[in-house]
Amino acid sequence: MNIDKPKNVALIVAAGSGQRAAQGIAKQYVSVKGRPMIVHSALSFAQHPSIDALYVVIGEGQKEQAQQALAAIDYDALIIGGNTRQESVLNGLKFISQDVSIQNILIHDAARPHLPHAIIDTLLLALADHKGAIPILPVTDSMIKTKDHMMEQALNRDSLGRVQTPQAFHFQDILAAHRDAGNNDYSDDAQIMHAAGHAIAAVNGSPILNKYTFAEDFMTNKPNFRIGSGYDVHRFGVGEELWLGGVKIDYHMGLVGHSDADVVLHALTDALLGALALGDIGDHFPPSDPQWKGASSDIFLKHACNLVHKEGYEIANADVTIICEAPKIGPHREKIRDSIADIMNVDTQQISLKATTTEKLGFTGRGEGMAVQAQILIEKMI
Ligand code: MG
Repeated sequence: MNIDKPKNVALIVAAGSGQRAAQGIAKQYVSVKGRPMIVHSALSFAQHPSIDALYVVIGEGQKEQAQQALAAIDYDALIIGGNTRQESVLNGLKFISQDVSIQNILIHDAARPHLPHAIIDTLLLALADHKGAIPILPVTDSMIKTKDHMMEQALNRDSLGRVQTPQAFHFQDILAAHRDAGNNDYSDDAQIMHAAGHAIAAVNGSPILNKYTFAEDFMTNKPNFRIGSGYDVHRFGVGEELWLGGVKIDYHMGLVGHSDADVVLHALTDALLGALALGDIGDHFPPSDPQWKGASSDIFLKHACNLVHKEGYEIANADVTIICEAPKIGPHREKIRDSIADIMNVDTQQISLKATTTEKLGFTGRGEGMAVQAQILIEKMI
């Protein structure tokens, strides 16, 4: 270590039982984007060039769980916490105080997994001029005081801030403040430092740092988008009607199939079912079932759209490619787009329709049939 550089350490507080999150296990060990929540901020500190040591305060009986979760992280020690957050931090500070060379400490809650390096930089910079620095966000909602479920008083939000972690302090000052704090129900370390008479700088926080508290916070962690692809082929036959995307096209041949053989609507239906992982069009409308003989294929697509809504999704967009040598699709493109949008109950702007030939190669090139591929993106709304 360069001795001219101040020694900075990080302390992650992960001693809670996290009952409000209702996830079955302490929330710091619940998976967030594929890793136990605690791992994210631990990694951020461990990989920051100005952080010289990393300590983690854990709950009684959580040692094995913590060791397992942090196995790949370069941390310095696990410290057993106390009955309250304040006690847990004090336990951590006392342990760390064995190293008398430490100048600065960043105290962070494991419940804020996403920790940008820029926040660490900003806080460390502020410690050059102040004994404490905290990230805050402006308040954008109106703020009031309530009493017995009634509005008591309006507050001026311009003077208010939402306080996040990590909170950065000169080590000896926060240690002394914590030792003298007593049992005062402080909700964070900045309050303890401030009560001890120290000035605290408020720097810009980040919405990325938001805390995971309730079950809903973990739900938003699941991906909101799903993608699906569909592919369908039908052969040409003389004396058949040609239906593409719910539009009847004037052509000397049509497509052969059990239903009306609308190859575009079939590919779209399969794309939607694929996005939902609910099988394919054949599972929902078996060709062996006589009731679908000659059926208008918009029934299939509407059924798939209903399933999308039932699962709480909306259609973001669809991209369809028709593969054939003839007929020319260009003259019918806008009409087909409108028709698909109509069936799916979306805006035409959400539907893209393209066409290509295969340079006379293969079955489409020889004019034996048509192929369609479709991609659809759906977005979770509830
Ligand atoms: Mg088909």
